[in-house]
Amino acid sequence: MAKAFIGFGGNLGDTRQIITDAIVCLALRNQLQIIQKSCFYQSAPVDAAGGDYINSVVHVETELSPYGLLHVCQTIEQQFGRERPYENAPRTLDLDILFFEGVAQGDTELTLPHPRITERSFVLLPLLEIAPDFFLPEFGELKQYLPKVAHQRIEKLACRNCSCEEKPQYRPSAH
Ligand code: AMP
Repeated sequence: MAKAFIGFGGNLGDTRQIITDAIVCLALRNQLQIIQKSCFYQSAPVDAAGGDYINSVVHVETELSPYGLLHVCQTIEQQFGRERPYENAPRTLDLDILFFEGVAQGDTELTLPHPRITERSFVLLPLLEIAPDFFLPEFGELKQYLPKVAHQRIEKLACRNCSCEEKPQYRPSAH
């Protein structure tokens, strides 16, 4: 089994629901197990058109090859109506393989680790939420890149059903 991290994002439609459903689709796949998922984050588009994005990162373990996992990700994007009318267009759902254990390659069809992993707050924050000490060979500890993305607007949304231990934001008073 290889460990992999997948980034989810979108800015068209009810993206929280779309990502929630897409993660269920992913979990139903053979040869793949979901270990952990982050909370949702709302982020400003970076080099992309449209409104704010919703993002999340999922940790999986899989017997699939990296290209097998890419095929699964692309099939799920299609299931949720992903279209590519032009580069960086608004999208219902985008899945990126951020990291696949033991694989480093520059193939344009599948670049691993994902080339922009250290440059995007919407990748770093959810990834570090579920893997705080993530160490990326060649790059080092991922948390050291946080100051470089501090200017990118991002907000962690209140958790509904993720793996983090965050307390509910509203608590009824004791009396
Ligand atoms: P996008 O339009 O952002 O969804 O980019 C999709 C294209 O990026 C596809 O043609 C993929 O083959 C390619 N690609 C390269 N590296 C990766 C990666 N690590 N994860 C997902 N797609 C990738």
